[in-house]
Amino acid sequence: NNFEQLGLNESLLSAIKDMGFENPSEIQQKAIPLLLEKDTDIVALAQTGTGKTAAFGFPLIQKIDVSNKNTQGLILSPTRELCLQIANEIKQYSKYVKGLHSVAVYGGASITEQAKDVKRGAQIIVATPGRMQDMINRGMVNIKNIQYCILDEADEMLNMGFYEDITSILADTPKEKSTWLFSATMPQEVARIAREFMKTPEEITV
Ligand code: AMP
Repeated sequence: NNFEQLGLNESLLSAIKDMGFENPSEIQQKAIPLLLEKDTDIVALAQTGTGKTAAFGFPLIQKIDVSNKNTQGLILSPTRELCLQIANEIKQYSKYVKGLHSVAVYGGASITEQAKDVKRGAQIIVATPGRMQDMINRGMVNIKNIQYCILDEADEMLNMGFYEDITSILADTPKEKSTWLFSATMPQEVARIAREFMKTPEEITV
């Protein structure tokens, strides 16, 4: 029951030490080894406060090819605040990973500025679905190389009316990617996304 046993690399272990995390939480113990070991889809039922951001953030960071500037990971999140919070955590987690760049993309701020940040070479984009769809429509982001798509707080995103944006984004990303869905509850609409857009996901509950 410690971070060293989960298969994380030295850069991540050093950042974890700096943040003062002593032991992995339950969701981290279950998700991290699984996601590191193979490229699989997962559906994880987990509330906020369980450490879910690190549960997907650590494996995602480790799987990114930093020698390549293409966007490889996309995290969709319901609100600007959550988006910024996740982007901030990703930056802390990846502080020792040279060449890894992440950017937050959300409504209510300059889309051209965000597009510039993406163009500089962001391997990870943390986005709200509406703004992400907007950037895709305007050709401001290349999503052809996305290998990992994370839906965070899927139930909340659907409550906010993002079904069309989410499904359209998922349909535009490569077929051969992994999708990691996190949700506090599993209403019909979330189950439908899992059924229609995911490949026999492994289920994790905490
Ligand atoms: P989350 O559920 O991802 O919103 O995380 C809730 C809070 O717990 C965040 O402030 C994290 O930085 C913190 N956290 C995540 N994992 C751990 C851990 N293993 N030990 C201590 N704190 C953690």
